[in-house]
Amino acid sequence: MKIGIVGTGMVGSAAGYAMALMGVGTQIVLVDADAALARAQAQDIAHAVPFATTVAIRAGDYADLGDAAVVIIAAGVSQKPGEDRLALLERNVEVFRSVIGGVMEAAPDAILLIATNPVDVMTFAARQISGLPPERVIGSGTILDTARLRSLLGDHLGIAPNSVHAYVLGEHGDSELAVWSSAMAGSVPIVSFAEQIGRPLDQATRTRIAEEVRGAAYTIIKGKGATWYGIGAGLARIVQSITDDERTVLSVSQVNVDIEGVRDVPLSLPRIVGREGIIATLMPDLDETERAALKRSAEVISAFSSRLSL
Ligand code: ADP
Repeated sequence: MKIGIVGTGMVGSAAGYAMALMGVGTQIVLVDADAALARAQAQDIAHAVPFATTVAIRAGDYADLGDAAVVIIAAGVSQKPGEDRLALLERNVEVFRSVIGGVMEAAPDAILLIATNPVDVMTFAARQISGLPPERVIGSGTILDTARLRSLLGDHLGIAPNSVHAYVLGEHGDSELAVWSSAMAGSVPIVSFAEQIGRPLDQATRTRIAEEVRGAAYTIIKGKGATWYGIGAGLARIVQSITDDERTVLSVSQVNVDIEGVRDVPLSLPRIVGREGIIATLMPDLDETERAALKRSAEVISAFSSRLSL
């Protein structure tokens, strides 16, 4: 199965590397406006493949994306000094017009997986530009925030992160929310499990953990300028769930008809991901505070997505 990646900077190449090592797909095609960069990334990753799998990876043009099952879009431009967030967004919308035009012409049946930040707003833009149904335009959203939350909760409780069923929902950004009311350790509500083992999740601990999740990207950026490995692996995991038709529940972004009265807003909820894209959304039971936080997050995103010239 062919997977395309458009934008082979740090994030796009990390996704390619993760897929090559995990054996996701059979062919990976890298496309970038900087063709020499795409070629170099493909060669470098190809040299890692013999140590791990048999995935074929090469650089190409849009035409080489024909028949791709999934195309990851990680192309984008970075902020100029003094540029405000909306102006930067508009420039990235222009990049998406050219990229998505190229992808749709070559691979009209592909599922689009959006990684460019701010990922929720860019998922909205991709959906508008492509005209695809919302379940075929997936944003990486809070997949990584959820992984970070599970890892911190696993540490706190002394259990494996994959036995923690908890999600970060809403915006992939400052307004995101960790949902405590429906979080589980195995089949036990996590707050009562924490009490049973004498490691309570009191308000201060919850706030600390949520802050650590929210601040993780800032901490990494401070140390190395950007983040790419975590999101690269998260993107590979989403693609795997699509190509293997796993129907795994992942917190990813999609344009929703209505979230707490906010219309046409892209944000993350737990969703079943399989061969046709997003098969269903599992709206969790939220308490009043969480509902208000989800609404606020929807409003924060909508303030940008509804102002784009699309
Ligand atoms: P990140 O850290 O998010 O990966 P980078 O700047 O490293 O950001 O990567 C973004 C990539 O997107 C660059 O390699 C750039 O060449 C590519 N890019 C920008 N505009 C376009 C475009 N119109 N078409 C294809 N690729 C593009």
